[in-house]
This record gives sequence, C-alpha cells and structure tokens, in this order.
Amino acid sequence: MSATPLHILQSIFGYAHFRGHQQAIVEHVAEGGDALVLMPTGGGKSLCYQIPALLRQGTGIVVSPLIALMHDQVDALREAGVAAAYLNSSLDAQEQREVERKLSAGELNLLYVAPERLLTTRFLEWLDRAEVALFAIDEAHCVSQWGHDFRPEYRELTILHQRYPNVPRIALTATADPRTREEIVERLALQDARQFLSSFDRPNIRYGVTQRHNPRSQLLGFLDGHRGDAGIIYCLSRRKVDETAAWLAEGGIEALPYHAGLDAATRMANQQRFLREDGVVMVATVAFGMGIDKPDVRFVAHLDLPRSMEGYYQETGRAGRDGLPADAWMIYGLSDVVTMSQMIAQSESGDERKRVERSKLDSLLSYAEATQCRREMLLAAFGETLPGPCGNCDNCLEPPKTWNATVPAQKALSAVYRSGQRFGAGHVIDILRGVDNERMSQLGHDRLSTFGIGADMDEKQWRSVFRQLLAAGLLATDAEGFGTLRLTVASRDVLTSKREVHMREETRPARRASRRRDSQLITGASLGIEAYEQPMWEALRALRSQLAKQHGVPAYVIFHDATLLAMLRAMPANEEELASISGVGEAKLKRYGRDFLDVINAQE
Ligand code: ADP
Ligand code: ZN
Repeated sequence: MSATPLHILQSIFGYAHFRGHQQAIVEHVAEGGDALVLMPTGGGKSLCYQIPALLRQGTGIVVSPLIALMHDQVDALREAGVAAAYLNSSLDAQEQREVERKLSAGELNLLYVAPERLLTTRFLEWLDRAEVALFAIDEAHCVSQWGHDFRPEYRELTILHQRYPNVPRIALTATADPRTREEIVERLALQDARQFLSSFDRPNIRYGVTQRHNPRSQLLGFLDGHRGDAGIIYCLSRRKVDETAAWLAEGGIEALPYHAGLDAATRMANQQRFLREDGVVMVATVAFGMGIDKPDVRFVAHLDLPRSMEGYYQETGRAGRDGLPADAWMIYGLSDVVTMSQMIAQSESGDERKRVERSKLDSLLSYAEATQCRREMLLAAFGETLPGPCGNCDNCLEPPKTWNATVPAQKALSAVYRSGQRFGAGHVIDILRGVDNERMSQLGHDRLSTFGIGADMDEKQWRSVFRQLLAAGLLATDAEGFGTLRLTVASRDVLTSKREVHMREETRPARRASRRRDSQLITGASLGIEAYEQPMWEALRALRSQLAKQHGVPAYVIFHDATLLAMLRAMPANEEELASISGVGEAKLKRYGRDFLDVINAQE
C-alpha cells in the first residue's frame, strides 16, 4: 500500500485535515522540491517536513539549534509511533554510536541534529553512507545577522546543497520580515526553492492593552480568568521577575521565575516544570521563550512595555499554538514611557542605533494607545493587511471612547514650555494643578501663568494626558535620559490651534470588581469549560499527567488540550468513537485508549 500525505496525517498524527499551505508543501517536498516555508509560530511547520520524511525513502535529517526542542519533538514523534532520534552534546559516546548505527541501517525516519554536529567530518561521512530523505533546516532565520538569533554555523549549511545536490531541502522560519527572508535565500542557496508564505495572523489570540492603575490587583483580576492555565508573565527586570513570582506563589499560584541571573540548574529545572506539568505560570525576562513550543500556553502577559513590535509579536505568539483561545494581555503606564526612553538614552549604543530603538519604542507606544483594531496594527507592522477589524481584540470588542483633549493638551504643552523644558511629568503636573510646595516657590513656578490652570483635572487624568502626548509624539523626553519633557516640532500646531488632539478616554478601574470567590473560579474557564463539566475535565487532566509522569514526557505529548476538550464534548463510548477524535492517532489509541475510555465511562 502506498501511503498518501492525508493518510499519514490521519493515521499517525490523528488529525483530520491539513492546515493552510501544509498539504502543498508536503507534496512539493515529497516529490523532491526545495522549499522555503514562512509560517507563524503555531502554524504547524513540523508536519511540513515530518510527513515528507515518512513518505520518502531514507531518513529525514532535521537541523535544529535548540537541544531542549529536539528532545520534546523526538518524544512526541515516538509517542506517535515514528522512529525518531536526535544527536547532540547531551548523548554519551555509546548512545551516539547507537544512533549512527541506526542511521546507516536505515532504521530511522527522522534524525534531529544540532548544526555544529552535522558539520563535523565524522557525521558527514556517516551521512555519505546513509540514505537521506530530505534536509529540514528549522529556525532558518538563524543564518541572518540582523535577527537576534544569529548562529554562525548556519552559514556553513550550504555544504548540504553542494554535497548532496539531489536531496530536497526545506527551510522553515517564523520570522516574517522581508530582509531576513532574502538573507535566508541567499545564505542557504535557496534561489530555486519554492516559497510558501502564510499569513502571520493568529486569530485565536485575543490582544488587549490596559492602563496601569494598580498592577497587582489588575494582574490578579486577569489571572482569575486563567485558573489552572499555563502562561508566561514577562517583566523587564530580574528583580521584578523574582518579586512577582514570589508574590504569586504566596497567593497560591504555581509561579516560577526565569531570568539570566539564576544559575543554570535552576533555570533548567523551572523550564522543565513549565514544559512538563499542567498549569505552571512562568514569570520571566525576555531571556525565556526561544524554542519553547509548548502548545497549551493559555496567556502571555506583559507587565512592562516590550522593546519593539517584533519582540512583542514573537513573545505573545507563544500563546495558543494549539489554536484554542488564548490571551495576550499588557498593562502599561506613563512611567514605562519614561523608563524605556531613559534606557535607550543611557545605553552604550551609537546615535544611529539609538534612533532605531527610539522609533521602535514609538511604534509600540502608538500601538498601546491605539483606538483602532490592535490586530490590524500588529499585522501592518509586518506588511500584512487584514480585510477588516478582527473582532477579537479589546478595541474591537469594546470600542474605546475618545474625547477632544485639545485644550488640556495646550495647557500641558504651555506648562512644559513656560517652565523651561527642564522638568519631568510629575513637576509639570504639579504646576498645572497649582500644588503649592517649597520647591514650587523656590523655583518661582507658582508665579508662572500656567500655575493652577489645570486644577479642574486630577493627577490621574493629567498623567493620562501626558502619556498620550508622549505616545503621539507631541511631547518628547530629553536625549540625555533625565526624563525631562520637551516640545517637538508637532507641538507647535497644537499650541497654535492648527491641530486638534483626540484622546482615548480612560476606562475607570471598575472599583476593583471584587474578586470572585475561590469556589467560583474553575480551571479551563478560558477554554469555555462550564462548571458542570469541571469534574470530567479534571479527571481527564489527572489521567494525562499520570501517564505523562509514567512515560517521562510533557503532558501535552500524551494529548493536547484540544484533544481532551474534544473527548469531553464527544464523550466517546468505544475505541472507534475515540479514534475519530482529532489528535488520536493509531499508536496513541492503542497505548492510551483504554485508560481514557475508562475515565469517561466511569462518570455517567
Ligand atoms: P510551529 O513549529 O509552526 O510553531 P508546530 O509544528 O509545533 O508549529 O504545530 C503547532 C501545533 O499545531 C502542534 O501542536 C501541532 O500538533 C498542531 N498541528 C499542526 N498541524 C495540524 C493540523 N493539520 N491539524 C491539527 N493540528 C495541527
Ligand atoms: Zn481587533
């Protein structure tokens, strides 16, 4: 029987349909063509080389830069009944020889190898004697010097093309920008490869940005909707990571810290727990995330402003790889704008670099303050246009109100100007509000014409005005990084009434909607699980973690949330019904089918 791509997708991986370009890519590579695949995180890149490797004679060689990722991929493939192995520095000499033996004997469908290992003479000689089905170059953007993941060894991978001209190559990346793409083509000699470009939209992720009032209670409120969910909370500093993780853990949330200041063993242990267990929350700096392909991360929260739109999109993209609903949530405030500007100003980089950083920050600020669809703005940053507003971001779901803030803006700008453009927002707001203190009289600012002209608004309202003026480029912070405010070229038009200013109305921090009682908080709420379904959901999850422990694999390798959810809804009565559920392939049906059916049938 000659297998078709669809047959392999269904019987081995247990999925009913291909997604997006998957089928076209699989067919193209299976027939021996080269391909460059650009797909967002979670798009389903792995199947694009795994299935052709199974269809073709010989072993598919997968170049991957991350050891942790190899382990998990190989575990998952073995669970599905595929003969897979990896070769990297974590193996001892004997284990390594065993893998090489299997390679020569043609016993492997897929072999994952780190680039530096692949390029050794020893390994290439083994390859010469083996039958190679294809080369897959994962994380292909690592050849690019412009990206943040540059790996010099990736540059030498052209040797594959020279040494094995008849073996198809497929390069894959989730990095979207055209410059990186060109570099991949050039560096890997993929001029003749067919390019498969997917939309970078991730419609299941709900984007939202909230103004910071009381960050801790805001975070708790957000986490109430994510009981028992795995998630990542990003903070700017190591200290904040440690404090936040400790504070959450005290409150009974399974939170762990991750940053470059922790010793390697702790980092590894925390990462393993996050990957393997259900519902661990990782509080981390940006050091965490590359190579984390856990499919069931239900939220990514940013407690501080990220550095750029690209960074933000990549970080939030780690949520909801399995296609189920996920949240990308961010809180930010005036102090972020000032801190970030200061960090840029005081960094060691040259002027050109600082200008780039500055403009990246500016686009992020306008994103944060936007009143239009967030997804439209995010995708526009990658040159992609949505057909219309997305319907799944905070601005689409609850369109923000705007108000004509021209007069307050004029007052704010004059106060900055009259006080000599030498003060930060705090003092200028005091001037506007007519706060009479010693400093004020020492500086003589109580005699300024702007003193007290803004007494009709409270401090919070003024902070909102200043934040939005900064975000709109109508005010700037000083280049030296002291946090002092100055006017910009655009400020003049506002001062001379040539330009109106419309601002987002601050949503009142709904008098801290008293947190729901513990008994009302249920796990799986973010997936739409109802209270009556809860016992069964918990029973299925418990069985999954028990099996995962027994087999020494992450819980999601047994079954994804999406598959458990489908079981919960379909309540299959026998193996045949269970087999029809997406994610249940033949090997897993044989291995776990009975156990899951027992749990389901026990609870009539
Ligand atoms: P990427 O490497 O592009 O980030 P993965 O290959 O890890 O994405 O796939 C993301 C998730 O989607 C995985 O959990 C995978 O099993 C699942 N997946 C991929 N293709 C399909 C499909 N055709 N049907 C259902 N699930 C799929
Ligand atoms: Zn939207």
